[in-house]
Parts: sequence; structure tokens; C-alpha cells
Amino acid sequence: MSEDCKCPLCASGESKEFRYSLRECAVCGLVFDERALLRESERNAAAFESETFVEPNGWVRLLQRRNARKAANRLGKSLAPGASVLEVGPGFGALAAELVSRGFDVHVVDTSRAVCRAVTSRTPAIRAHCGLLSDMPPGLVFDAVVASHVLEHVGDPLCFLRSIRARVRPTGFVSISVPNVQAPEAYLPGWTSFEPYHLTYFGPGQLRRALGDSGFEVDSLWTTEPYSGWPLALLRTITQKGEPRHLMAALAEPPQQGERGPARFAVETAYRTAMFLIGAVIWPARAVQSAVDRGENLSAIARPHEPR
Ligand SMILES: [Zn+2]
Repeated sequence: MSEDCKCPLCASGESKEFRYSLRECAVCGLVFDERALLRESERNAAAFESETFVEPNGWVRLLQRRNARKAANRLGKSLAPGASVLEVGPGFGALAAELVSRGFDVHVVDTSRAVCRAVTSRTPAIRAHCGLLSDMPPGLVFDAVVASHVLEHVGDPLCFLRSIRARVRPTGFVSISVPNVQAPEAYLPGWTSFEPYHLTYFGPGQLRRALGDSGFEVDSLWTTEPYSGWPLALLRTITQKGEPRHLMAALAEPPQQGERGPARFAVETAYRTAMFLIGAVIWPARAVQSAVDRGENLSAIARPHEPR
């Protein structure tokens, strides 16, 4: 391992081969993509900072609205009416819009101008800050900061979490979600979270440590296993002929969400239906997987604690 690529969580220089050319820190167990770390901004820019914003299709919007409602239900339990919420990396803005509809004061921050424009044009009540967290007006703090599937894109997770910490009121909390590298699907090369723009891969222990080391105290940490976890991982393993996406040659290709048309929609309807059915049939296995912290979606709620 090169001298200049230390573990992004504990700064140890000791790492060993994980699988699919990823490295695992010998000290804290964080899994990271050493080559992607060296090309961080390039890969994330290629994937996310396009000036054009492609609207997701009906299926994706439906799933996003459903997930947004579930997330808003959970967050809402810990928030007073009218509380302020900052979402870092709002994606298509489904959660932010859902939170606005429930009367919260919602801000989003994203480096992509296209994302900021799209989110605010759909829901004008959302206040968008285009840039980095550190570019936001000093002193602007929130009752909750949400970062769902953002941490794994960041080269320096501790620095990122500390800048979130600076935006959370002392009485507030942060909600973080990442892919769980300790999910059994992560043994398949087609696991949906093996992506060229994912720089780090957390398990429950590493997420707990990252939050603790950046000034938070973990309130709760849990995993969930979505309907699509196994079917998608198996499908990608077959169709990509066993090649993990983060190793594939065409890394700079633009995101594939632009493909359109009725034929594509029909295919997607068939495969979403199949996925739902498979997910429903294997529900008991998914429940066990989630209960033992092996679900592929790993989340935590943490509160600021005073520096020791
Ligand atoms: Zn480490």
C-alpha cells in the first residue's frame, strides 16, 4: 500500500486485501477503494456533477416517495413541529419535499447546480445551498442533519462528519445511512453498492467509530434489508459476468438513468414486479438479516456530545 493512502477512518497505514481489489484496514476494519480515493473528485464528478438533471421514471419516483415517507416518519418522531432540517446530498429531493409537506423548515446542500435547481423548482419552499457544507453561511445550524448514502462518496469521512457536527444544534441529531459492507450480498461481485464512486465501505462497527470520532454519540444503529437487495445483486452478478462495477473499464460513463421509452418501462415494470415478489417470498430471511445487523442498508442516529 502506498504511503500516501492511509485508512480514511483511523489513519493506519496497515491494510490487507479485502476482495475485488478493495482494501480492508487492519486496525479498524474499514473497507476502502484505494484507487478511487486517489481519484476521488474525478469519479464523483463524472457520476454526479452533470449540468443536466434527468428526471427519474415513474417507478423510481414511486419507490423514492415510499422511502421518503418511511424516513420522514422516523425523523418526525424526534423533531418538534416546524423544526429545521438540512439534507446533505438530497438526490431527487423526495425526502426534502416530504419533510416540507409536514411543515418542517427544510434546507438542502449539494455540489451539483443541476440538483439544486431541480429540487427547488419542484418544491420552492426548500432552501438550496449549492456548494459544500463549509460554503454555507457561518452560524447556520439545524435541529437535524440528514445524509443518506453520501458518506461513502467522501474521501475523508471524519472531516465530513465534523463539518456536519458544526451544523447540528447541541440538542439536535444527525441521521446517516450507508451501504453495509457486512451484508452477505457484499460477497457477490454484483452487489449494488460496488460502484466506482464509492470510496469507503462501512460496517456497523466502522460507522459507530466514525461518528464517535467526529463528536457524536450514537443513539441508535440498525440495518434494513430492502426488497431489491438480493434480486439486484444476483441479477448484476449474472449480467456483469462476475465483474464488480468498481473494477469495470468504462468507469467514466455517465449514469444510465437517461434511458427512456415505453419498451424500457415495460421491461422495468416486469423486473420490479419480479423483484417485489422475490423480496416478499424471502421476507423471513430479510427480517433475520436486518435483525442481526447484516441488512444491506446501514443507518444510525447520533447526537452531538461535548468534546472530552
Ligand atoms: Zn482504519
